[in-house]
Amino acid sequence: MPDTEKTWGREPFWGLGYDWDPDWVLTDRQQELRAQLIELCEREMRANAKRFDDRLEYPRRNLELLAEKGFLALTVPEEYGGLGENHVAYAMTCETIARYGCASTAMCYVMHIGAVNAIMLRPTDYLIDKYIRPLGTGKIGTLSYSDPETGSHFWYPISSGAERVNGGFKVRKKASWTTSAGFADFYVVQTTSPDFSGYDDLSVFVVDAADAQARPELWDALGLRGNQSGSLNVDGMVPGEQIVGPVGDGASSNDESVDPWFLIGSSSVWNGISLGAIDIAKRHTTRKRHVDVGLRVADYPTIQDYVGEALIDTNASRLFTFSVAQALDRATDDNARVLSPGETARADYLHWCWQIKFVAAKNVAHVTDKMLHACGGSGYKRDMELERYLRDGKAGWVMGPTNEVLRQFVGKAVLLGFDSLDYWNQHVNERSIQNETKKLDPAGKRALAEKLLAEAEKAEASERQPAGR
Ligand SMILES: Cc1cc2nc3c(=O)[nH]c(=O)nc-3n(C[C@H](O)[C@H](O)[C@H](O)COP(=O)(O)OP(=O)(O)OC[C@H]3O[C@@H](n4cnc5c(N)ncnc54)[C@H](O)[C@@H]3O)c2cc1C
Repeated sequence: MPDTEKTWGREPFWGLGYDWDPDWVLTDRQQELRAQLIELCEREMRANAKRFDDRLEYPRRNLELLAEKGFLALTVPEEYGGLGENHVAYAMTCETIARYGCASTAMCYVMHIGAVNAIMLRPTDYLIDKYIRPLGTGKIGTLSYSDPETGSHFWYPISSGAERVNGGFKVRKKASWTTSAGFADFYVVQTTSPDFSGYDDLSVFVVDAADAQARPELWDALGLRGNQSGSLNVDGMVPGEQIVGPVGDGASSNDESVDPWFLIGSSSVWNGISLGAIDIAKRHTTRKRHVDVGLRVADYPTIQDYVGEALIDTNASRLFTFSVAQALDRATDDNARVLSPGETARADYLHWCWQIKFVAAKNVAHVTDKMLHACGGSGYKRDMELERYLRDGKAGWVMGPTNEVLRQFVGKAVLLGFDSLDYWNQHVNERSIQNETKKLDPAGKRALAEKLLAEAEKAEASERQPAGR
């Protein structure tokens, strides 16, 4: 437990003190970074959150404040102008921004760091000079993956594609949701590969803002209203240097970078929202008095039970998240390893990343609801800001991978093995085929066989065609 008191400006902090923060997971430097973030939140970011939510305004000002202190390059090596920090620092940063400041800003930050790390998985001099070194000046990136045709199966961009043209690529991307759409400086997008050969043959590109069209004026949602997660369209040339990794690297990039960074960051945002709601409930229930019985709301055992359970569940969730972040740090030498295509480190912990997101997103919905109950009608009113935490937290369950999908992944993998998940659509389920064909009469079997033979001949003929035709 740090011997310093948590402060809010010049005053003691009105929520939970450091004695309820698991500071043994943070280095001294990470604790200093957290103090800087709390100060930024107190000075300006928290006040801005209300305006962003009321007016559906993009949280640019808050991202500028983060840029000034180097947080937009938190995980970038120091030699490229970053803070050289690791996965635990990233979890702490996302949690702190969401808790004390602004959840919309925190989610834009998650997508920004996701884009930065997708690039840093396969760094080149060109990509570093163009996108990574300028991060200190406030350049913002984001991830544009979700596809209108595949919904929350965001890892499969069926409506998108790319062709090789004159040393570059003609990229077509249709994204149904992209945080920071219309405001980011660069978009990391995933498409099916040029010369597409099958479900997992995907490629990753960086697209500049000038080459992407968004419609931010159409964005309106229950929560995270600042983060502008609208649609995005790309249909044009991208220079050859702006492919990230080799053609066909998309599935590896997903498993090794995009998913682990997103799941650590977003879980931390949900944990931060839960903590922020408990902070508000502490402030309110310890100040509100019922004169008839001479008790504060916090004096009722029912309210104490609400807060006790909320904090125990939330600390279980955040320690789970920090623990998986530590595992990723260990696997990557504190985020310093540069992996060659085919090598894995974070991907070996993907099934742990799924679990932390499920727990954090489930917890935030419960905790924000209970803290609203603890604060009574006062919590229902907008001026206490608790209702914004509740609305923002609602995005947790539905953001892909959704909690329905995650519990399916985990349950199926536990019971039937990892291969049964087949999210890259590569394993044939013989059991299903046999079961279904068994139902056909001889004529039906013959018709199916003829159809399959025709398809096989067509596929073989196209394989025999020289490339480029
Ligand atoms: C605030 C916010 C910000 C976002 N930002 C981004 C971003 O920056 N970049 C990006 O790429 N995407 C982003 N997304 C998109 C997100 O990741 C999902 O793709 C999106 O929420 C899916 O919505 P949908 O209506 O298509 O869901 P659907 O996929 O249609 O889901 C509908 C229901 O079906 C369930 N379901 C779907 N598949 C299965 C299955 N296999 N088994 C069981 N149930 C299933 C779902 O869980 C859900 O209950 C964002 C979403 C939100 C809410």
